Amino acid sequence: MQLSFDLAGGPLPEVRDRLLAAFGPQRPHARMDPVSQLIKSSISGRTQDEVSWSAFLRLRAAFDSWEALAQAEPLAVVEIIHDVTHAEDKARRLPHALRLIQQKVGALSLEHLSEMDVDSARWWLQGLPGIGVKTSASILNFSHLAMRALVVDTHVHRAAKRLGLVDRHHDTAHAYQALMVQIPNGWTADDLYELHWLMKGLGKVVCTHFEAVCGACPLKALCPKTGVTFSAEIMPWRPHAAPTA
Ligand code: SF4
Repeated sequence: MQLSFDLAGGPLPEVRDRLLAAFGPQRPHARMDPVSQLIKSSISGRTQDEVSWSAFLRLRAAFDSWEALAQAEPLAVVEIIHDVTHAEDKARRLPHALRLIQQKVGALSLEHLSEMDVDSARWWLQGLPGIGVKTSASILNFSHLAMRALVVDTHVHRAAKRLGLVDRHHDTAHAYQALMVQIPNGWTADDLYELHWLMKGLGKVVCTHFEAVCGACPLKALCPKTGVTFSAEIMPWRPHAAPTA
C-alpha cells in the first residue's frame, strides 16, 4: 500500500500536528545535567518510567555525589536498583561508565559534548559501556545540553515502523538515522523532545505492542497499517487469530 503522506514536505510535520492536537504540548519542564541524565537513562532500558525514576531517586539519596557512585561496588548498586530490568548488568556497567568519563575528561562531566556536533557527541557517548543509540540520544536531548537528537525508544520505534516512517527491518540505530533525516531543519531540540513524547504516547496508549487501536488513532487517516491490528506482522505469535470485537 502506498503511504498517504505528502512526501514532498515529509510526513513528520503532519504526524506532529495531529499528535499535538490529540495529546497536547509536550515541552520540557526541567532538564537535568548530562551526567544525571546518563545515570537515569542507563537504568531505564526495558523498564517502566515510574520504576526507573524511583530507582534513580534512590541512587541520588544513597550517594553523596555521582563521584561516589562511580566508586561503588556493583553489588551495592544492584541492591538499590534491584527492581529495574537487567539490574545486575546495569549495576556493573554504570559505575564503570562513570569512571571512564573521569579518565577521559579529567572530571565527572559531560559538558564538553556541547562543543561537538550531534553525531560526534553521540559516538563519544556510545563508546561507554551500556550506552547505545537510545541512551546517547536521551543524554544529548533531554539534559541541559539540549541537542538535536531524537530518542527512539521501543514505543517510538514500533509506531514509526507501522506508520512506514522507517523500514520494518530497521534496528534502533538505523531507525534513528532514518527518522533524523526526515526531521525538518528548522526543528529545535525542544521540537525533537516533543516529537519523542508524542510518539511515545501514541505507542503506549494507542499503537501498543499488543494491539493497535487504529479506530481511535489520530494518525489513522495517514497510516498504511490502519486496520491490521491482528496481522501476522504486528502479532507474530498469533498469526491466525481472528480479530475480536
Ligand atoms: S493507525 Fe493503527 S497501526 Fe497506524 S499508527 Fe495508528 S494505531 Fe498504529
